[in-house]
Amino acid sequence: MAAENLQELFVEELRDVYDAEKQLTKALPKMAKAAGSEGLRAAFEEHLDITRMQVNRLEEVFKSLGLAARGKTCDGMKGLLEEGKSHMEELDGSTLDAALIGAAQRVEHYEIAAYGTLATWAELLGHQDAKDLLGQTLEEEKEADEKLTGLAEMINPEAEEDAEGEENAVLSMPSSRSKGSRSKKR
Ligand code: FE
Ligand code: ZN
Ligand code: FE
Repeated sequence: MAAENLQELFVEELRDVYDAEKQLTKALPKMAKAAGSEGLRAAFEEHLDITRMQVNRLEEVFKSLGLAARGKTCDGMKGLLEEGKSHMEELDGSTLDAALIGAAQRVEHYEIAAYGTLATWAELLGHQDAKDLLGQTLEEEKEADEKLTGLAEMINPEAEEDAEGEENAVLSMPSSRSKGSRSKKR
């Protein structure tokens, strides 16, 4: 059933983001478990708590509009989380951590776009309470994104060093020893 006006579209997209947040509450514990870095694990666990509050806050938004809270499959979040799952299956060590941060930041940016749009529409449609609630979540998603950037600044160089370690291991294997030492690219 397609929306026929902005009000209907607003409600449809609220249902989309409600489902997106619920998907995320299921994925974050797995991401926390997969993270090797203590700081990254803590960040995922913290964002899980925040995400659960955001689910409740969306229920407040529905209530303020006189509607029952209902979700509608968010294909965007589904795709983003599938990519994160592939990383968990294919990578390990700090390379996995770097990939998890990249995946999580894709999620945050997606949410920032969704909440930014929803808050703007809420205001335009005269739903001030909804606008305030959506704006609060928008700010939390921006904070989460910034926090991930901070973690990436620590973890990306570790992942880069790991790669060098593996390169050196390959170089010291008998088959590649004949060539002697290779100059370090830097
Ligand atoms: Fe969220
Ligand atoms: Zn969506
Ligand atoms: Fe988030």
